Amino acid sequence: MTEKMFETPKQQKFLANYFASLLKQNQLVHAYLLTGPAGSGKSSLALWVAAGLFCLHPETTGSPCGKCAECQRILTGNHPDVIDVVPDGSSVKVEQTRFLKAEFSKSGVEGRRKVIILESAEKLTISAANSLLKFIEEPSGQMTFFLLAQNVNQLLPTIVSRCQLLKMVIPSETQRSQLFAQAGISASKSDLLAGLTVDLQVAKQLDQTGAVYQLSDKLIEWYLKILSKDWLSVVDVQSQIMPIVVEKKDQQLLLELLELLVKDLINWMVNNQVKYFAKYQTQLTPKLKQLTVNQQLAAIELLLKQPKLRQANINFQNALEALTLQLLKCYDR
Ligand SMILES: [Zn+2]
Repeated sequence: MTEKMFETPKQQKFLANYFASLLKQNQLVHAYLLTGPAGSGKSSLALWVAAGLFCLHPETTGSPCGKCAECQRILTGNHPDVIDVVPDGSSVKVEQTRFLKAEFSKSGVEGRRKVIILESAEKLTISAANSLLKFIEEPSGQMTFFLLAQNVNQLLPTIVSRCQLLKMVIPSETQRSQLFAQAGISASKSDLLAGLTVDLQVAKQLDQTGAVYQLSDKLIEWYLKILSKDWLSVVDVQSQIMPIVVEKKDQQLLLELLELLVKDLINWMVNNQVKYFAKYQTQLTPKLKQLTVNQQLAAIELLLKQPKLRQANINFQNALEALTLQLLKCYDR
């Protein structure tokens, strides 16, 4: 048995208990929409409920035992009546929609019961979503459909209105930071990682590869130069930052770190403390102290607005250099 399945309902204890009581009373409705950020345990919870439906020896609470042959098959992705669809690419493809429709119209292979899980449901195109509507509304047999999505606003209202909407419980940043520290991540780094992810596994990965710390070092070095009104900060973009953000995912991570830096600039204005980049507090403080409130506010406003860096088809280096110049002007006023 993998640990994952029972780890997540622990995180989602409230929802797991709710589903367990429904399972016990045989009162599941036929369509659920689970929403929450990546790593919040949506698919693990859906599989856990599926295991609860098929489990041979459920606990008195209604929870699956996790040990029987049915639970095992579901956990390992080998149950013919638990269908887990993960869209490939940016949208649910025509073949996948066709597959889903076919699965909706067939009852279970081994029994009448069936569970269909669609991950990243926000990737349903309008026509795919419309073609699934009637199946969601009038399922054949004992069908339970789970749509999983990060954000309910990206789904068609007609789909949302036909599902029971449940939001995943997300631990607060402070709780996450403690959780990460308990899992062996050093306390000085757990605040930064808790700002970046809700997922312990992702946090562990980031911690082990260390790229996030290298990026943080370069980001703060660059920013310290900007704070010193040092024009070499523009050159740094090409010579120091670009070589370590060659891939899109690294650029994405840099932008997420930049967002945390903005939060820290605000933290500093409020209580002269930085939280995510606490490691650099002693270097940042003397520079930040020299600034007027207006300079600080202008820079924060600029950083919050920087929409260009987020656009898909920009030249990342150009956009970052332009931002550097604008920041220099802010601090030079
Ligand atoms: Zn079982």
